[in-house]
Amino acid sequence: MVVDAVEEKREIINRYRRLLRKAKPVLKEGDAKLIKRAFTIAMEAHKNMRRKSGEPYIFHPLTVAEICVEEIGLGTTSIVAALLHDVVEDTDIQLSDIERTFGKKITSIVDGLTKIRGVFEYGTSAQAENFRKMLFTLSEDVRVILIKLADRLHNMRTLESMPRNKQLRVANETIYLYAPLAHRLGLNAIKTELEDLYLRFTDYATYRDIANKIDATKTSRNRFIKQFVQPIKDELDMLKVNYEIKSRPKSIFSIFNKMRKQNIPFEEVYDLFAIRIIIDTSLEHEKSFCWQVYSIVTDFYTPNPDRLRDWISTPKGNGYESLHTTVMAKNGQWVEVQIRTKRMDEIAEKGYAAHWKYKDNTAKYESNLEKWLVRVRETLEKQDLTALEFVDDFRGNLFNEEVFVFTPKGELKTIPKGATALDFAFEIHTDIGAKCIGAKVNQKLVPINHVLRNGDQIEILTSSKQKPNEDWLRFVISPKAKNKIKDLLKEDRRKVADDGKEILIRKLRQMKIDVNGQVYEQLREFFNVSSQLELLYKVGKGIITIADIKKFQDYKPTGVKKLAVSEVADVKTIEQEIKSKGRSEDTLLIGEDMDVVEYKLAKCCTPIPGDEVFGFVTVSEGIKIHRTNCPNAPELLANHGNRVIKAKWTSQHEVAFLTGLKVVGTDRVGLINDVSKVISEELKVNMSSLSFKTDHGIFNGEIMLYVNDTRHLEMLISKLEKVEGVVQVNRFDSRAS
Ligand code: MN
Repeated sequence: MVVDAVEEKREIINRYRRLLRKAKPVLKEGDAKLIKRAFTIAMEAHKNMRRKSGEPYIFHPLTVAEICVEEIGLGTTSIVAALLHDVVEDTDIQLSDIERTFGKKITSIVDGLTKIRGVFEYGTSAQAENFRKMLFTLSEDVRVILIKLADRLHNMRTLESMPRNKQLRVANETIYLYAPLAHRLGLNAIKTELEDLYLRFTDYATYRDIANKIDATKTSRNRFIKQFVQPIKDELDMLKVNYEIKSRPKSIFSIFNKMRKQNIPFEEVYDLFAIRIIIDTSLEHEKSFCWQVYSIVTDFYTPNPDRLRDWISTPKGNGYESLHTTVMAKNGQWVEVQIRTKRMDEIAEKGYAAHWKYKDNTAKYESNLEKWLVRVRETLEKQDLTALEFVDDFRGNLFNEEVFVFTPKGELKTIPKGATALDFAFEIHTDIGAKCIGAKVNQKLVPINHVLRNGDQIEILTSSKQKPNEDWLRFVISPKAKNKIKDLLKEDRRKVADDGKEILIRKLRQMKIDVNGQVYEQLREFFNVSSQLELLYKVGKGIITIADIKKFQDYKPTGVKKLAVSEVADVKTIEQEIKSKGRSEDTLLIGEDMDVVEYKLAKCCTPIPGDEVFGFVTVSEGIKIHRTNCPNAPELLANHGNRVIKAKWTSQHEVAFLTGLKVVGTDRVGLINDVSKVISEELKVNMSSLSFKTDHGIFNGEIMLYVNDTRHLEMLISKLEKVEGVVQVNRFDSRAS
């Protein structure tokens, strides 16, 4: 590559100036100097480095800093930390150097960012563990996570130049962890962009298709919106108030999600866009003004009473405030209208950081964020949680929508949606949870697994005789309650195990057996239990009786050590095995060297040739092939990146693959016959099963059939769509659902 050094230098300076320009409104005295110093250090440190795309490396920290300012609304401390975020890891500069120049605060942020770098840079088995580490730093200074999100956003924007397997890993990790994290911190714009980029890099065809369709429907949509808002505009104009009406289509990813979840085509996604009315008003008039606008909107259009959401009186946990209603337009179409003030809008887009601009009203939000951080910290402090369990827990905290309920004294509590009376009991206090026998919800007696709803008032009933049991784990959904119950059960188990130990040792002594580690090992094998604790517990519980222990006297140890399940071969050894096996006539190439190996097709997404796929090394079933857009892919790739291997279809042979089609249409005599004729006669496709349901003149068919590849399948779909009465033919994703 030929690089014009002078030109490049000029570009670097231009970008640096652009950063300063954007930061200007937040800069205080001396800040510009500090930023310049950080820039100089970073530039010198990354001097000879380039990104995969060929650009100078310094573009990356500069852009990350710019995102921090422009899209998250952060200040000087974060700009400096962002500029330095890759310096310690990649160059000779050390933390102590940074501390000397910039002080403790910035150093600790850079340190946090350096520690969590491995999360995406090296996709090892320790991914989950790394994520846990990251949240440790989060609970110290939330800016670490905000800068990290800016870093991830830039890496996603430039993912194009990365090799395919890395693209998949980074993209899936993003959808699994970072997008939810951005959501939880109220960074809506970043969350949406991360999700769209995820789809673009994992399923480009679908992404393109949806984007094109959004484009193609733009003119008619705009015409509709113009007509819809005209009467509202006229009224608002008379109020002499500054306002703005926006309407943006839903993001590509959320449309995709809707299509997938409801198994409908693009054309049937009815809420493609929402209309947003943003008014400029002073803080004390916000609420009444929003309701005034609501009143104007519903003067013209009938609202759906089930779809009114008031997040102004009770903001969402991530700080979101807005008034939502869905109304019926003149053409019979439902339209969502969001009403909010300028301040609320900025917070909705930029989240946490935007709050600093509106200090006086942050109290409510601050306390919610603080509560969340406390919950994260609590989870982090649980030592015995494995990293994977931890990530699950954390996601549980992220995704749950919240429900507001009250204590008997009228105190407001926030609990996750779907939470039960038992969850609530644990939310109040562990002792109350442990002794809970039921509850009174709005004066009515209910069992402990009763699901609570918004506005419920709950009184917990307890009994000193109550004790938690295994079933309780199914009655709660909050990670907090789950963990507490597990703790209590463990405690209980340990007590029983202690009794068991006494019994066992006494009995063995009578049998003249000295208890040592080896004997325990043999006992474990003899009674076929997984751990010493389980053995002792079973003795304590009387599941293993004295008579059983007696039989151990005649036991001859086999001496053969069973392989632990956890000893999963890693990719390297599997790839070596692959090499020694040689080639056979097959259609899938796997691994770095693109060899032919044995594999199984995953049942969750039933890949066929032509699909983009990856291999996943499983514990007991060898290599499984999944589609890159498989619903399970994010979890697999994000948590077990080291077990993922490349896979690619080569030119196809006459091999048939099982796939499923859903056919929907209007019923008529002979239709089933026509459909199956197309399949078996015209295209000579083998059907494995066929089922049809008819309901009020609409038929729904599911066909499992064998095809050669995606082209073959597409041909079949277009032939089927031409059958009279057939309205829609779709491949379905998963047989499991
Ligand atoms: Mn970086």
